[in-house]
Amino acid sequence: MQPPVKERLGLVPAPYSTAEGRSDTGLMARSMMYLFAAGAAVTSVSLVLTPAGGAPPRIAATGACALALAVFVLLAYDRIPVWGFDALLGSGTVLVAWGVYASGDPTSPYAMFYFWIAIYAFYFLSRARASLQMAFIAAAYLGVLISHGQLRTTPVLHWALVTTILVVAGGFIGVQREHLERLIDRLTDAARTDSLTGLLNRRGFEELFATELERARRSDRPLSVIICDLDAFKSVNDRFGHAAGDLALEKLSAILRRTKRRVDTAARIGGEEFAVIAPDSDQHAAYILAERMRREVRERFADEPYALTLSVGLASYPRHGESSDALIEAADEALYAAKKLGRNRTVVFSAEINETLLASVPGPASRFGRGDSPSPLPLADD
Ligand code: GH3
Ligand code: MG
Ligand code: MG
Repeated sequence: MQPPVKERLGLVPAPYSTAEGRSDTGLMARSMMYLFAAGAAVTSVSLVLTPAGGAPPRIAATGACALALAVFVLLAYDRIPVWGFDALLGSGTVLVAWGVYASGDPTSPYAMFYFWIAIYAFYFLSRARASLQMAFIAAAYLGVLISHGQLRTTPVLHWALVTTILVVAGGFIGVQREHLERLIDRLTDAARTDSLTGLLNRRGFEELFATELERARRSDRPLSVIICDLDAFKSVNDRFGHAAGDLALEKLSAILRRTKRRVDTAARIGGEEFAVIAPDSDQHAAYILAERMRREVRERFADEPYALTLSVGLASYPRHGESSDALIEAADEALYAAKKLGRNRTVVFSAEINETLLASVPGPASRFGRGDSPSPLPLADD
């Protein structure tokens, strides 16, 4: 069974998707670089403000390491593997732990840097990976307390408070991010969905068709595109009103959904124009499918006060074209032929049929609206 359309389109709701398979590693790297650089800057300022003596050289080394890591991220920028971000965050935790240790005070304000790591982790990584980072922070911080021999109430309480607040703050960021992801998901869906029928709209259709064509090319499999247009639909609007027309369009979309195979995708690509992408189908298989849809439409609308029918054109990869534009144009021309041949029929693209039809009709080439000119031309190219 085919994966859902969104997956087939390879749609990752960047830049907020979870790190596995995410497409915004550039943003992750930039943010990481800024954090390390800001850490180095804040550490330098704290050193300037700290009275002389004590731990400054060791803290200065921490700041220098943060700066070195910022430069490293800047240089490696687009080559950091996904796990590299976990490793870099882990290094950040080690640096902060070292800074707290070097300050000689387990309740040092340097522990505040852990918040940056927590926020980064919950914003950019999956929950599991962010939780691992939190566990590492808690362990590293506890390690500092132990190495200071300060497992007394105040430092332990400080440790417990800091880690709890980290988890809550990070979790809050994570929840907000997931909310944003869902919102972006919905907006992305809406931008590709036709509001009347719930089918893919033209944009979604074109994107999916390009993706399916690429898949067909790679796997050396055929692919067909079927384009349908309701016959004399304008008269339905004229006689029964726009609302009745809309109902007819919804009914048609339900018929297409029911009649197509699970692997096929139906789309509304124009006012009363629909398309079906039929993977793994050459022109013969697509013709059978198209005819099934056309007959079903004729039968289902037979009882309505307006007996609607469908004209259908189809083209197949690789026989009728290599690019999506060429294939859509070929299916469009076949649809034009179906209209010219008397409507309520399916035509498989053929260069000859179109040339003959164009030659027989004066005026500029335009698919529809030239009126009927039934002709004894063949319906298919073989
Ligand atoms: P043909 O057989 O040549 O396709 O004739 P037709 O009347 O179907 O084609 P034409 O292009 O002349 O008219 C298309 C009509 O589709 C005109 C327009 O009012 C109607 N239409 C387009 N979009 C919608 C829509 O969203 N709702 C309704 N109710 N009608 C629509
Ligand atoms: Mg029409
Ligand atoms: Mg039309």
